Amino acid sequence: MHITLIAGARPNFIKISPIINAIKKRQSEGADIQYSLVHTGQHYDKLMSGLFFEELNIPEPDVNLAAGSGTQAEQTASIMVAFEKYLMEHPTDLVLVVGDVTSTMACSIVAKKMGIQLAHVEAGIRSFDMSMPEEINRIVTDSLADYFFITSDFAKENLKKNGVPDEKVFFVGNVMIDSLLANQPRLRRPEIFDSLNLQDGKYIILTLHRPNNVDDTNNLVDVLSTIDSNVNGVPVVFPIHPRTEQRLKGADYNFANIRFVKPLGYLEFIYSIKHSMAVITDSGGITEETTIMHIPCMTLRDNTERMETCTVGTNELIGTNPRNLIPALKNLFDGKWKQGGIPKMWDGKTAERIVDVILKEFGR
Ligand code: UDP
Repeated sequence: MHITLIAGARPNFIKISPIINAIKKRQSEGADIQYSLVHTGQHYDKLMSGLFFEELNIPEPDVNLAAGSGTQAEQTASIMVAFEKYLMEHPTDLVLVVGDVTSTMACSIVAKKMGIQLAHVEAGIRSFDMSMPEEINRIVTDSLADYFFITSDFAKENLKKNGVPDEKVFFVGNVMIDSLLANQPRLRRPEIFDSLNLQDGKYIILTLHRPNNVDDTNNLVDVLSTIDSNVNGVPVVFPIHPRTEQRLKGADYNFANIRFVKPLGYLEFIYSIKHSMAVITDSGGITEETTIMHIPCMTLRDNTERMETCTVGTNELIGTNPRNLIPALKNLFDGKWKQGGIPKMWDGKTAERIVDVILKEFGR
């Protein structure tokens, strides 16, 4: 059988890498499974894309659809047009999409309209916040998928409510965690930590890129000022997402504790979280990474599609009002942050379970 794998943006690369490794493993054991890798080109610069292919040993994609940046509709449209053409020339048995980015949704629509079976990895998660483009991507993708690979009981309940039959839903765990566990021996301390004089356990990591937090420059500066004034002098390392960097261009600010750095490669970023005192973020994936490493995490969002990171893990929803960070930071400095546990099946074997389900479903 043949699978076409889709990856378009930074979090996708981290999720697709273990799936490719699991396919290769089963191939070496004689399983009848071939794959092609489609890079949609949604993220294209070295620090958001190329570096992840190198660090995670992801093979060169079979094609790059070069979608590039643009509005939501422009990106969706250019991915759809290019992927339809590709699929016409390169037939496949199954299209597999991961996560919730624009590429996930765009390629799902194309595959289904061409009558091709569709598998969604990280299906069923919901923030119930329709102002997030990712929530729309999730809902559309899950309304089309044939196979649903899920990370949590919350995802199972959401899919059940949407009428998805149980036999199409496979609780397999979390591919992000596969990558994180597999790469532990390869983690690297970022070189820039020396010039910033950072010591393990004595800095905070900050990431922000969601429209709610960054699109309004005044609001963004207000969030950063609140953090800056309430960290008791602890350095805050801020690997700045290109989207956020754009918004800060020309803004007037001066922070005593925030250290702006370029986005870090995966191996350096995971090292940075693992040795941090805490993480402040609006990312979804990072709340999973802090959970497995028992690092306190404050999420600057009103909701999460990854509830298990709060109910089981170390994550706490702070909301988008930065003032809420003040008591949360106090809790951290008072040593009162929860230790957290590890959600079900976060064991590094998710990708193998996914490939085994596919082989079984396709009778190979
Ligand atoms: N990440 C990284 N370098 C950075 C920031 C994040 O490698 O400078 C990784 C992080 O470990 C996580 C993923 O990128 O695996 C999260 O991506 P992002 O925040 O863009 O997406 P989201 O999780 O919000 O969908």
